[in-house]
Amino acid sequence: MVEASSEMNSSFRSEITATHEGESLNFCYQCSTCSGCCPVFRYNPKFNPRRIIENTLLGRKDRTVDSPTIWFCTVCHTCTEKCPQGVKVSEIIIELKNLSSKKGLFPIHLQEEAKALLEFGMVSPSSKAILSRREKLGLPVIENAPPEEIRALTSFTGFDKLVAGKKPMEGEIQKKEAVEE
Ligand code: SF4
Ligand code: SF4
Repeated sequence: MVEASSEMNSSFRSEITATHEGESLNFCYQCSTCSGCCPVFRYNPKFNPRRIIENTLLGRKDRTVDSPTIWFCTVCHTCTEKCPQGVKVSEIIIELKNLSSKKGLFPIHLQEEAKALLEFGMVSPSSKAILSRREKLGLPVIENAPPEEIRALTSFTGFDKLVAGKKPMEGEIQKKEAVEE
């Protein structure tokens, strides 16, 4: 049954279908293959890709862009590979995440990782203890990407401002319950 709600927003659906892979959204016939093959859904039924696609079709920004649930996607692309209708599920979820991050609704741990990337050239810099153990074990040195090159690229795209200029989002995203579908 189609749900009537003031939260439905047809312009939001159009916004997604206008993106690079978003047009495929219109071909979804809700077979649930994406959910059936999703490794996250297997362990966390609150994250349901079929439902995310349905809510996007219905223009439910509140249940997609504004919901922390979309951030559970690991971008493994299994859903996109398996969809019988050629719906680019993972790419559509990436678009939803992009819109979400523009509103500052990205998880705090990702914000911290992004800051580390800009500063050190890696999202998870190794501690001195780890580096020392690696050396004792004869493991190779972990090379980081040159931070100045990363900063130049992110400055060009505006990503650095997105990361640095936001008010703390931790409370905002943690207060919201993951959408129960
Ligand atoms: S597998 Fe494809 S057609 Fe089936 S519900 Fe998922 S997106 Fe829709
Ligand atoms: S890309 Fe995301 S939604 Fe698709 S199968 Fe992987 S974790 Fe699930």
